[in-house]
Amino acid sequence: GAPGIAETRVAMMADKVRRRIVAVGSGKGGVGKSTVAANIAVALARMGRKVGLVDADIYGPSQARLLGTEGIRPTARENKLNPVASPWGLPMLSMAQLADPGQAIAWRGPMAGNALAQLVEADWGDVEVLIVDLPPGTGDIQLTMLQRFKPAGAVIVSTPQDLALMDAMRAIELFAKGKVPVIGVVENMAGYVCPHCGEISDPFGSGGAQAAAKSAGLPFLGRIPLELAIRQDSDAGRPPAASDGAEGKPFLALAEAVAN
Ligand code: ADP
Repeated sequence: GAPGIAETRVAMMADKVRRRIVAVGSGKGGVGKSTVAANIAVALARMGRKVGLVDADIYGPSQARLLGTEGIRPTARENKLNPVASPWGLPMLSMAQLADPGQAIAWRGPMAGNALAQLVEADWGDVEVLIVDLPPGTGDIQLTMLQRFKPAGAVIVSTPQDLALMDAMRAIELFAKGKVPVIGVVENMAGYVCPHCGEISDPFGSGGAQAAAKSAGLPFLGRIPLELAIRQDSDAGRPPAASDGAEGKPFLALAEAVAN
C-alpha cells in the first residue's frame, strides 16, 4: 500500500544525508572535462551546496592545479583520508595527492581501483554532492566507479568535432549499460572569443554536441566558449566559476542544470 507519514519522513531524512555522486566523463582527453568538473563544483559551492570533488583522472590529474591546492597532502585518520580544503569553499582529493610529488602515475587496474576507493570513501563529512572527475574513455576506473560507487548521474563533456563526439557516444553507452542516468551533454570549446576584437569564430565547429545529445535523447546542458581567460584563470588555480566575470557565466548556468 501507500507509505504512511512516518515511513515517508524516514525516507526523506535518509535522502537528506545520502551522498550523491555525480560523475563527469568524456570520450577522450583534452576536451575540458576536468575544467568543467572543477567549475561545476565551485559553482555549486557558491550556490550554497555542500559539495566535494574527487579527481579520479589517473592519467592527467589536474584538479590540484585547477582548485589551487597544489602541493597540499591530505592527512589520514583511522585509515580514512581527510580531504584537502580548497580556497573555493569545497574539499577535494586527487589521485595526484596519493603519489609522490612529481612521480608519474602508472597504476595497474586493481591498484587504481583501490586508490579510487580511498578517495571516494574518504571522510567527506556533511558533503551531499560528490563531483567525480573521471579519466577519459571507458576503462577500469569507470567500471569500478559504476560497480562500487554507482553515481546518481553523469555529465558528458565533448568538443564539437565528430571524432570527439563519437568517443563521447561510447562514454554515454557505458553509463547507460551501468544504468547511470546521463544528466546531459556539455559542448566545450565551441565558439572562440577573440581577446582582441571579441569576434566569435568556431575552430572546432559548433552545435555538434547539441545535435548528438538530441539524437541520443539526452538533455543538452549548454555550450562553453573557447576563451583565453578560461585557460589563463584555470592554469592560475582561479576557477572561472568563482569570479563574477563573463567567463564564469556558462559554468554557473551548467551548475544550475546539474543541481536540479
Ligand atoms: P580534460 O580533462 O578533458 O583532459 P582539461 O580540462 O584538462 O581537459 O582541459 C585541457 C586544456 O584546455 C587545459 O589547459 C584547459 O585550461 C583548457 N580548456 C578547457 N576548456 C577550455 C575553454 N572553454 N576555453 C579555453 N581553454 C579551455
